[in-house]
Amino acid sequence: MPDAQTRPLPGPPASGPPVPAPAVPGADARQAVAELAGAGALTELYGPRPTGRVDPRTLRRLLADAAARGPQGTVLALLVQLATALPLLTETAQAPTATAVRDAALGGRALLALAATDEQAGSDLTALTTTVDLDGGPDGDQVTVNGTKRWVTSALTADHALVLARHRPGRHFTNFTWVLVPLTAPGVTVRPAATELFEGSGVGHLELSGVVLSRDHLLGRTGRGLALFARHMAVERLASAAWAIELCRGAIADTDRRLRARQVDDTPLRESASVRQRLADCAVQVSSLHALWTASCDRIADGHDATAAAVLKAASGTTVERVMTTCAQLQGADGFGTGGIQQLRAESAVFAIGGGATEVVLDTVAGRLDLVLNELTP
Ligand SMILES: Cc1cc2nc3c(=O)[nH]c(=O)nc-3n(C[C@H](O)[C@H](O)[C@H](O)COP(=O)(O)OP(=O)(O)OC[C@H]3O[C@@H](n4cnc5c(N)ncnc54)[C@H](O)[C@@H]3O)c2cc1C
Repeated sequence: MPDAQTRPLPGPPASGPPVPAPAVPGADARQAVAELAGAGALTELYGPRPTGRVDPRTLRRLLADAAARGPQGTVLALLVQLATALPLLTETAQAPTATAVRDAALGGRALLALAATDEQAGSDLTALTTTVDLDGGPDGDQVTVNGTKRWVTSALTADHALVLARHRPGRHFTNFTWVLVPLTAPGVTVRPAATELFEGSGVGHLELSGVVLSRDHLLGRTGRGLALFARHMAVERLASAAWAIELCRGAIADTDRRLRARQVDDTPLRESASVRQRLADCAVQVSSLHALWTASCDRIADGHDATAAAVLKAASGTTVERVMTTCAQLQGADGFGTGGIQQLRAESAVFAIGGGATEVVLDTVAGRLDLVLNELTP
């Protein structure tokens, strides 16, 4: 890509003086995880003996705090680390290489990326072409990874990426395996995604060209890649809905405040019947999402209920779009100011795409319609 630049990746050299952390977008997600670990929040989130289970209410509180403080891109990086990458690594880490990275991440000393989306349509996961060759090396002790991963949060800033790769051709569910790839390994090239959005996310693309790793970089049993993905994606959807609620809540409150101070015909705009009803409609939408989150959070966090997670993901994508469109309209020209609601609205379109497009999760819901309707029986 002509606009792509490679850059040296963070990480200590083998010897010599420490290298200061590079000033790249997303570097503050590192600081955020360090602070959370230092404050004991990760123990609260995962319990004293982490197994991969996440406490959903703690997760929601941590993401809400981050959303109130930092750029939304940093929240995205935290979400991937806390809700998906670290729990998946915790569940699968057994060999010393993986347990060392897991312990560093639990201690707030390592940032992780999770790379599932390939060059091809991210919605067609079983078509992904990134490969892991399990038969490599003279002693059979090596694996080789080849492929391209696009739009990976924290690609620019993470130490390691959990990479979903195929070890066999074909679409079968059991043809995929996770590999822990150090982003400083020979053969790894990182490029920033060409976007002005998502400051703080470190989002970028990974080229994996003949990346040779020892076999203990494999995560989980061979062939369990998609099963693990489905379990942990459910929790990511729960986390993303929690963040969506917080974003909508903040946008409605901000719009309400602005409209109270804005006069038309000597009357605050907030008193217009049409404005009041539109703001109220936004509050109803986000209240419904909150109720759905509360009703399904334990089933998703403990039971990894994929149907409940799909319902929640579809609802959060459509709720965010409706609320942000209304609030952005009601803020008028001021919404286009730097860092204003129009930028937030553009970024928040990711709720209907990232981690599964709305159409894809609706397909899941359509496949389990009986189950969803049965849940509604009084
Ligand atoms: C800011 C950001 C951060 C991201 N971070 C990560 C990350 O950390 N790790 C990672 O692995 N991925 C990440 N992604 C990628 C994300 O998960 C994918 O964008 C998503 O899965 C959709 O894939 P795609 O973009 O290739 O869209 P495509 O699959 O090409 O789909 C394009 C559009 O087609 C429509 N569509 C797709 N399938 C269907 C269907 N079955 N029926 C009807 N319509 C359909 C939808 O409208 C969809 O938006 C990130 C993306 C963004 C924008």
